[in-house]
Amino acid sequence: MASATARDTFDAIIIGAGAAGMLCAAEAGKRGCRILLIDHADRPGAKILISGGGRCNFTNIHTAPDRFLSANPHFAKSALARYTPQDFIALVERYSIAWHEKTLGQLFCDGSARQVVDLLLTKCAEGGVELQLGQSITAVDHGNGAFRVEVGGRTAIAPALVIACGGLSIPKLGATGFAYDVARRFGLKVIEPRPALVPLTLGGDDVLFRTLSGVAAPIEVKCGKAVFREAALFTHRGLSGPAILQISSYWRHGEPIAIDFLPDAPSRWLRDAKRNSPRGSLRRALAARLPDRLAETLSDRLGLEKQLADTPDRQLEAAETGLASWAFHPNGTEGFAKAEVTVGGIATAELSSQTMAAKRVPGLYAIGEAVDVTGWLGGYNFQWAWASGWAAAEALAAR
Ligand SMILES: Cc1cc2nc3c(=O)[nH]c(=O)nc-3n(C[C@H](O)[C@H](O)[C@H](O)COP(=O)(O)OP(=O)(O)OC[C@H]3O[C@@H](n4cnc5c(N)ncnc54)[C@H](O)[C@@H]3O)c2cc1C
Repeated sequence: MASATARDTFDAIIIGAGAAGMLCAAEAGKRGCRILLIDHADRPGAKILISGGGRCNFTNIHTAPDRFLSANPHFAKSALARYTPQDFIALVERYSIAWHEKTLGQLFCDGSARQVVDLLLTKCAEGGVELQLGQSITAVDHGNGAFRVEVGGRTAIAPALVIACGGLSIPKLGATGFAYDVARRFGLKVIEPRPALVPLTLGGDDVLFRTLSGVAAPIEVKCGKAVFREAALFTHRGLSGPAILQISSYWRHGEPIAIDFLPDAPSRWLRDAKRNSPRGSLRRALAARLPDRLAETLSDRLGLEKQLADTPDRQLEAAETGLASWAFHPNGTEGFAKAEVTVGGIATAELSSQTMAAKRVPGLYAIGEAVDVTGWLGGYNFQWAWASGWAAAEALAAR
């Protein structure tokens, strides 16, 4: 390793200048810590910039621990309670960033996601954070109470190291498994990372639905105990749209998902349709409630071609039941290339929920998506990044 000088000595080194790393660096810097924030990408906050269609869905006002997946559902509670959506809203307002609620408590910038990155960079500058971008880390070591990180020909030294380099989703934006490598290197367990908030692919009999590519409908989808009511979108590979992205985080290979195509239809609506339009067909009855092409595919699959008047009530009831719980058997997902987030990651059992510090490795911390805490779609993942970054910053300052 290259030799270290005073300018290479810090209170903490943070790996990853994404949402969690930048907030943690800025808050620790504000509290007087000397921080080095390292990213191998040339620009910080790449995911923030493309998030929320370029407007960054930076939090969700309905943030609650039950909207996060983790092997330990209690782990996120402390950090989420201590740094809330209101705290981030106050920050956004202090920097005069205009925002609006889109739907379901999701808050977006009126302008651009760039404003959030600029806010975090300004806060880092105010806190005297040193940023080192565009260079690869070639070694991470620990000995005599100090972490040593070799990057860009220098050896940076600090008594604390924060793993903030995210999950595996979207490698072309700079995502790597480095967080897991560093964690394992220090003996921390990693829960198998899987793509989440990701489109599902269909094969087998379900392949017919691919011809509906581009058709969207409001549905309710279930997998195990998880239920989401939002829009689904058929794609040329399978299923997407917010409802499907949400359920994908809960889905495991081999499991079916069940879609209710008419979650708002009253029970026995088909028998009512038969009474009101006896000469009508199932397809027409469905087309009154669903997009034409979807109505056609579903009625073809149900195989009820006669007029409603000639269809026995019990067949109509069976059709209603089928439409309310249509089983799809996804054969996979579109993978990390298309996943918004990663479920799994550094095991929460290894970390303090108060400080994000590794229980068995003094001075080591992990925050953000690198940790086995994954939020629903809709601003929850950034809220976790801010909250966990803030918890670690407080702990760094208290060392
Ligand atoms: C397309 C898309 C849209 C999204 N939209 C939203 C949204 O609107 N709202 C929301 O809440 N969430 C959204 N998310 C999820 C959100 O972006 C992440 O959960 C969040 O960015 C995680 O923050 P983080 O700091 O933990 O990781 P990241 O933001 O991923 O930051 C990790 C950083 O570590 C760096 N890094 C990785 N490997 C190394 C290495 N080997 N050496 C050095 N640096 C490294 C990366 O370059 C990156 O800058 C979206 C995700 C995607 C992909």
